[in-house]
Amino acid sequence: MRKTISLLILIFVLTACGQNQTTSGNTNENQDGNTTPEDTQNASSSSSDQQTDESVDNKGQNKESSSKEEVNEEENNNVLEDKENNVKGEEVSNEPVEPKYEITESWDIKPIGDAEKKVVLLTIDDAPDKHALDMAKTLKGLDAPAIFFVNGHFIDTEEEKETLKKIHEMGFVIGNHTMDHKNLRNLTKEEQQEQIVPLSDRIEEVIGERPVFFRAPHGANTDYSTQTSLEENMLVMNWTYGYDWNQEYMSEEAIADIMVNTNLLHSGANLLMHDREWTAKALDDIVKRLREKGYSFVRPEEIKTP
Ligand SMILES: [Zn+2]
Repeated sequence: MRKTISLLILIFVLTACGQNQTTSGNTNENQDGNTTPEDTQNASSSSSDQQTDESVDNKGQNKESSSKEEVNEEENNNVLEDKENNVKGEEVSNEPVEPKYEITESWDIKPIGDAEKKVVLLTIDDAPDKHALDMAKTLKGLDAPAIFFVNGHFIDTEEEKETLKKIHEMGFVIGNHTMDHKNLRNLTKEEQQEQIVPLSDRIEEVIGERPVFFRAPHGANTDYSTQTSLEENMLVMNWTYGYDWNQEYMSEEAIADIMVNTNLLHSGANLLMHDREWTAKALDDIVKRLREKGYSFVRPEEIKTP
């Protein structure tokens, strides 16, 4: 035993003498001259201006869906290996997060235990149309998290998919808002299924993970869509308030004012905004003024999902 220790010390001393410099950042043993190809490519700088016209016609709150409070503790740890080898610098966190909030029957966000109470959740619907990427940049600059609820008809082309990918890579959560933004109550079960599941497939193709939040167009849930969402491990979520589809709030000033001064603002409010020009312009102001009022923003990853 002693001999072994002495031998080890001897080897250590000899090795140490041979090198009077330490190389940092390399924990490899005996791998001199080994370079790892770390090609970090920049994706093309397309700031796609695609558009699909779509009417904003949310009618406000529908409180029909039943609340599902089951928790399935199964954690899908898809640590993504980037198949296409075009990893960008930004980190995408896939770590499981302990839930700190849950949704109520009125779509508010309620703290679990001693999580911060004075919070609101930011959500951006009908993305990624013309403004979602800018909105993501604004939010990122303010370090404000949000869910972007996307539609299939906004992620048809490669360019559009690239936009979605960028938004995700900036750290935002992507939710399912159906393929074509139809009112699910006018559809058969099969048609509803086609509105929901293939969009999750498409989102997964682009960002590498399936959405865990679902929002029905117009907040019009059906028993079937709620059940389907649950089977897809998605939390169904309408909202507490939103205004940007009303004519009178279609200006930067008006929407910024109402979003922070409405009497519907309260701790746990779930704020609905859209990929719209006036909302995009007002977003910076909305976030700052909510903070001035003492609100912070819920990280969607901290909301309990099925
Ligand atoms: Zn919508």
